[in-house]
Amino acid sequence: MNQSGHVILKSGKDQSLMRYHPWVFSGAIKKTKGSFSEGDVIRVYNNKDQFLGLGHYQPGTIAVRVLSFEDRPIDDAFWKERLQDAIHLRKRIGLMDNPATNVFRLVNAEGDGLPGLIIDYYNGTVVIQVHSVGMFRMIVTFADILRELLGSKLKSVYNKSGASLPHKADIDREEGYLIGASPDNKVQENGLSFRVNWTEGQKTGFYIDQRENRALVRSYAKDADVLNLFGYTGGFSVYAAAGGCRSVVSVDSSQKATELAGENMKLNFARGVKHEAIARDAFEYLRESEGRFDLMVLDPPAFAKHHNVLPNAIQGYKKLNRLAIEKIRPGGIIFTFSCSQVMSRENFRKMAFTASANTGRKVRILGQMSQPPDHPVSIYHPEGEYLKGLILQVSG
Ligand code: SAH
Repeated sequence: MNQSGHVILKSGKDQSLMRYHPWVFSGAIKKTKGSFSEGDVIRVYNNKDQFLGLGHYQPGTIAVRVLSFEDRPIDDAFWKERLQDAIHLRKRIGLMDNPATNVFRLVNAEGDGLPGLIIDYYNGTVVIQVHSVGMFRMIVTFADILRELLGSKLKSVYNKSGASLPHKADIDREEGYLIGASPDNKVQENGLSFRVNWTEGQKTGFYIDQRENRALVRSYAKDADVLNLFGYTGGFSVYAAAGGCRSVVSVDSSQKATELAGENMKLNFARGVKHEAIARDAFEYLRESEGRFDLMVLDPPAFAKHHNVLPNAIQGYKKLNRLAIEKIRPGGIIFTFSCSQVMSRENFRKMAFTASANTGRKVRILGQMSQPPDHPVSIYHPEGEYLKGLILQVSG
């Protein structure tokens, strides 16, 4: 294990690390010492030779992702401790032994002190998605530690990292099972059932981060005609139906996702729910939806992944929200979201303000939404807070 490489930071560039922000940007590095390569654990110092942390090296804008701010070996005992801490938190928030909800995020990267690592739990199947070569190298170790720590709660481990690894990394991107191969893909969330396709689905298979917001939609859905835009596999639609909506339409550009939305609806409601799943562009559908809906969910993909495209992204969100506010029935409710990390809560709210003002309709905020506690955010790493949403009511 090579943990002898060093980077030394430029003067003044140590401040954020001293406050436990875990990223070293390449521009902050003054010089390097020793030999190291992509994926190695290296040591970070300031220009006064003070130790700042140990982390994974990755060529790119974020050059080092700090794993420990203490000087200690990054060995199996370290990984086990971090994974155990992550499990403790999920126990603490009532997700570990909860038959009504057996799908949750087990490791949320920086929020669990493990930058570059996402682990989601699907009723016995653990799906690992790594974002750095350093984490990729540890994948088999993680699977073994999780088997030990989770015991009978773990049936299989799937590696879903083909698309999340850095594009330039020269490594084997093949995805597949590391342990077992569970054919059981049915999970429970707040007492509702879903089929999750982690091998072909988006991200690790399911947007677990919307769990609490989906429950909110359930509480607003009674007797409503609901439009679930960017609906993926029908998460919000199933909750709307559970809340007693009159009808629900799920729209997503992915044909596969809409098929699974239909299946998920049938899984929960054998009959009696008026549901339509449509594979189409959400903007197009919305433009033609004149006055038909009184509850809408707008959960688009991240329109901006980088700061440099933020202005275009804001235009995209504005266009979407403006259309929804224009089209919704008087008194209607809109659940609107952004999962772009670069879109701040403040910018999102300003966007909603402008979109509302452009329509001339009266709009008020009934609630603000965020990500649930199995997606924790280090207070020193605000970039980890990516999901934001508003519950809007449109009158007049
Ligand atoms: N609300 C979902 C997650 C949505 S993720 C849930 O709770 O599970 C965003 C979705 O938008 C993806 O499923 C993607 O296929 C879809 N999408 C992307 N661009 C789209 C477009 N222009 N029109 C409709 N759907 C789109």
